[in-house]
Amino acid sequence: MTIIDTERHPLADQVAGRVLRPADDGFADAARPWNVAVEHHPDLLLEAAGPDDVVAGVRWAAEQGLPVAVQSTGHGATESVSGGLLISTLPMNTVELDVANRTARVGAGTRWGELLARSVPEGLIGLCGSSSDVGVVGYCLGGGLPILGRAFGFAAEHVRSIDVVTPDGRLRTVDGEHDPDLFEVLKGGKGNFGVVTSIELELLPVSDFYGGGIIYPGEDAAEVLTAFRAWAADLPDDACPSIAFLRLPDADFAPPPLRGRFVVHLRFALVGGTEEGDRLLAPMRAVSTPIMDTAGPLSYLQVDLVSLDPPDPTPFEQAGALLKEFGEEAQAALLEVAGPGVQSPLLLIELRLMGGALGRPSPVRDAVSGRDAAWCVSALGVPVPPIAELVPPAIEQVLDALRPWATGHTMVNFHGRPGDATDRARAWPPEAYEAIRRAKRRYDPDNLMRFGHAVLLPGGEPVEPAIPL
Ligand SMILES: Cc1cc2nc3c(=O)[nH]c(=O)nc-3n(C[C@H](O)[C@H](O)[C@H](O)COP(=O)(O)OP(=O)(O)OC[C@H]3O[C@@H](n4cnc5c(N)ncnc54)[C@H](O)[C@@H]3O)c2cc1C
Repeated sequence: MTIIDTERHPLADQVAGRVLRPADDGFADAARPWNVAVEHHPDLLLEAAGPDDVVAGVRWAAEQGLPVAVQSTGHGATESVSGGLLISTLPMNTVELDVANRTARVGAGTRWGELLARSVPEGLIGLCGSSSDVGVVGYCLGGGLPILGRAFGFAAEHVRSIDVVTPDGRLRTVDGEHDPDLFEVLKGGKGNFGVVTSIELELLPVSDFYGGGIIYPGEDAAEVLTAFRAWAADLPDDACPSIAFLRLPDADFAPPPLRGRFVVHLRFALVGGTEEGDRLLAPMRAVSTPIMDTAGPLSYLQVDLVSLDPPDPTPFEQAGALLKEFGEEAQAALLEVAGPGVQSPLLLIELRLMGGALGRPSPVRDAVSGRDAAWCVSALGVPVPPIAELVPPAIEQVLDALRPWATGHTMVNFHGRPGDATDRARAWPPEAYEAIRRAKRRYDPDNLMRFGHAVLLPGGEPVEPAIPL
């Protein structure tokens, strides 16, 4: 019988946004994540026009006993949403800028680029990561490792308050004084506790920004890595580098000198001017024979030029690790599995230098991972034929090779596909994981938010009795 599908859905009478069933026009486009390797198949999709829609959607799903998933851009889609209600927050892309107080309240569908377009002309920046296309809220809920992290710490440390619809259908404003236990775990605990409708962020007065990259031939990877390790050890906290192995396909989107080639990409971002940037980069400019050198003074609106992440939706599989150190032996281990001469199917292996402000305790408690790490590693491939089957084992091979130097934990934003309970626990330091599990039992005893990096397994009953609210 198709009669149900032609009727208006009951939820549609309660919301301003579109309610779409799988057979409806526009459903596939609305459900599609930026990571097009993942396909979502919810029973129903709500394009939330505002917080009231989110409240109605969460209450309706809870009444039906359906799980709830959230998506804004889909940059963090690690696994398929199957069944339940998918709430798309993309229409909620509001930015309320308060220049005098250096803050912004952004709606749950706002991309970093939309916030920066408003704040940078006022001399203010937000602590975005490597791509301004990523959503502000999803990124901050995962802790947020900024391009300028060594200078200013994790983005989560700069979140002042969060509006969230908890699984009981209540819209709460949480901060250091209101539901502080929930405020703590929302910053790093990802989508475990409800649907965030907006967050208030502290902005920073940064006018001098220097950034870009140097690209070296892959054949010189050992020489470049050796020089990079020594150079990175002496950098001031305001300097934020990473080093990446890049294997771009022979395709139009890649710059001609890089097509079909293995290259090493030094990425560099600095809170500082041209003179300091050029002085700091000079030793790395003298290494090997760079193929490209794009580093120089930039507007912060050009922050994407540091890492050169793909601007368009891309299929990817990714996993990460945090390292205590990356010395000579770790370098040799990495080169053995991904260096010149190896036919690696991975598009990218990146090592970001941690430390500086990223290594200091947060002024306000949160559930962010990575403060004890010296490096954050991310390995990523494009799982399409003919290499689709080769990508997951190649990622595992890289992480295995670096395991002797790993902290044993990851950052949830770079964790990749969540596995079993033990694997999920790796995304947080033990104390934060316990706080997240405590708050999960309190705020989501029925495990309504069970997709993605949920600390209770999908479809599973709560592992321990719920604590009464
Ligand atoms: C090209 C690229 C570059 C990146 N660079 C960085 C970087 O430099 N630093 C860094 O830390 N991370 C980085 N990431 C990871 C990124 O921050 C995470 O994937 C983040 O979750 C993306 O958020 P989103 O809202 O854009 O994605 P989505 O896929 O829409 O959301 C991802 C998850 O976040 C949660 N979520 C999103 N919105 C809400 C909400 N309103 N309420 C509750 N939960 C919500 C949900 O669990 C959801 O499944 C990068 C990812 C990509 C693909």
